Amino acid sequence: MNYFAPVRDMEFVINELAGLAGIAALPGFEEATPDLVNAVLEEAGKFSSEVLAPLNKTGDREGSRLVDGKVVVPTGFTEAYEQFVECGWLGLGKDVDFGGQGLPHLVVTAVEEMWNASNLSFSLCPLLTSGAVAALQRHASDDLKATYVEKMVNGHWAGTMNLTEPQAGSDLAAIRTEAVPEGDHYRLRGQKIFITWGDQEMTENVIHLVLARLPDAPAGVRGISLFLVPKYMVEEDGGIGARNDIFVVSLEHKLGVHASPTCTIALGDTEGAVGYLIGEAHSGLACMFTMMNAARLGTGLQGVAIADRAYQQAVAYAKERVQGSSPGTEGRVTIIHHADVRRMLMLMRSQTEAMRAVAYVTAALLDKSGHSPDKQQRQASQQRVDLMTPIAKAWCTEVAQEVTTLGVQVHGGMGFIEDTGSAQHYRDGRITTIYEGTTGIQAGDLVGRKILRDEGQGMRSLLDDIRAFEDSMPDGDDRLAVLRRELKSGREALGEVTDWLLESAKTDENAAGSVSVNLLMLMGTVIGGWQMARAATLATGKLDSGAADSSFYETKLTTARFYAEQIMPRVRAYRDAVTAGSENIMALSEQQF
Ligand SMILES: Cc1cc2nc3c(=O)[nH]c(=O)nc-3n(C[C@H](O)[C@H](O)[C@H](O)COP(=O)(O)OP(=O)(O)OC[C@H]3O[C@@H](n4cnc5c(N)ncnc54)[C@H](O)[C@@H]3O)c2cc1C
Repeated sequence: MNYFAPVRDMEFVINELAGLAGIAALPGFEEATPDLVNAVLEEAGKFSSEVLAPLNKTGDREGSRLVDGKVVVPTGFTEAYEQFVECGWLGLGKDVDFGGQGLPHLVVTAVEEMWNASNLSFSLCPLLTSGAVAALQRHASDDLKATYVEKMVNGHWAGTMNLTEPQAGSDLAAIRTEAVPEGDHYRLRGQKIFITWGDQEMTENVIHLVLARLPDAPAGVRGISLFLVPKYMVEEDGGIGARNDIFVVSLEHKLGVHASPTCTIALGDTEGAVGYLIGEAHSGLACMFTMMNAARLGTGLQGVAIADRAYQQAVAYAKERVQGSSPGTEGRVTIIHHADVRRMLMLMRSQTEAMRAVAYVTAALLDKSGHSPDKQQRQASQQRVDLMTPIAKAWCTEVAQEVTTLGVQVHGGMGFIEDTGSAQHYRDGRITTIYEGTTGIQAGDLVGRKILRDEGQGMRSLLDDIRAFEDSMPDGDDRLAVLRRELKSGREALGEVTDWLLESAKTDENAAGSVSVNLLMLMGTVIGGWQMARAATLATGKLDSGAADSSFYETKLTTARFYAEQIMPRVRAYRDAVTAGSENIMALSEQQF
């Protein structure tokens, strides 16, 4: 199955919803003109269709393997990675001081959607390198930066993220890997599991970022430090030196992303793995959060991407498969003529568009939080990014589960058969709600750190912005009436559940945990609806002014109206589930389960 990068859709969101012009006006982003962005997207689209997509199915079938202690990637992956590096794709959004091209997150997000959609397994390798670069740039010493960052930015060395241990998954306080000081470095001993792209031979070196404890560390998350542990030691002149004591001992057999090696890693089985402290001792979790926040937004984007891939494939099949007859059409028809198949395709399409808008608008906020010359705007943007991060991660990936399962359903029995490739999207997408913090953990972050901690202040500012947009919608336009009505109802429900949470959390210690996922889904649905209403309003303006590609804007308007009619009513169900509270969730004793 081919992949076609939806460049026109992406440009609509980049230029018109996320406001590229405003981002390009920020210091450092002057080069991000619509023409340059178009050229980048077209080239990335070609690379993803011609180089990455053809390796998706074969990669799934072959998988990565461990042979004589070395990770062997599926056929074609090494060559594709070489081309990826030669084209400079890894450096697209990285700092120019380290050899990057300094483009805004907004543009990089669209390009990364293409990598994810065309070959999710492949894209995880550069994604983790990007996260490691972000953590090093922010927290590492100048010496470490000078030695490692540029080679990671140009893709010759890869980065990994080593958090998880058998007893420490969601609960990183339980980490046991130990780091003992020795001169200017540390010796690390321990075991990490589930490490994505934990090793491979495509790059000259692999730079592991590892969470571990110093001997005098306090218990819990306040005693965790972050270390850089290279696979090969680096010589004074920057060349590759001796092998460090960090090895892959096995690869997992898993449901999806087969081409991405998921590694169990042993640190320090013999002399101890040499590592260098990043940032202050005992502040490793804060440093790792830089990487984890980047990876969370990246994982949310994987949800968008895999949903779009599943949608593209479902449309192609629906236009080809002949079955039954349909009112008003002679003879047997392709299944796209059936109203119920249309319903499924519209569910897939409208939710994918809403997710894309949410992900890209968040990326634009991230650009503002880093580059705006005005301190207040930087802070306000960062506060909004913080509020949006669990939504972009968990709502997008949860919705992707629905979209990829619909993709299988559109195929009927063939969806369950591996040959079509539809099942692969469903299997590959399944991990996205689990890694980088499960949906439950994201929802806990949303209600605990982002709503209760500031007593709903950030949420109220969001509600004010939605309200201001509603007020700005043109009056009396029938085409927009359902969008306006549903957005108002959704905003009010979001305000209602926020007030309910702030009040209930005072007296019920289970309130936050019991309602958090429904609250998160409600919020994602409303923010998605807000972006769809913005898209529809823009589309009516274009249609009324006689825009050349009227068909494009008609589809935007229809898709947004479908979202308002068919998705927004879910908000009422989420609201009722939230305000029902914790009583019956917690009522059974452990023995009664
Ligand atoms: C394919 C794959 C790739 C991965 N890549 C990496 C990687 O590169 N680096 C890395 O470090 N890790 C990686 N992981 C690990 C991944 O991040 C963890 O699996 C994930 O964080 C969940 O931890 P766990 O598996 O221990 O589940 P658990 O923490 O045991 O969770 C089990 C269930 O309990 C729930 N739960 C747990 N604690 C709470 C709580 N406090 N409140 C509410 N609910 C809770 C969870 O939501 C979940 O439903 C990967 C995992 C997989 C499968």
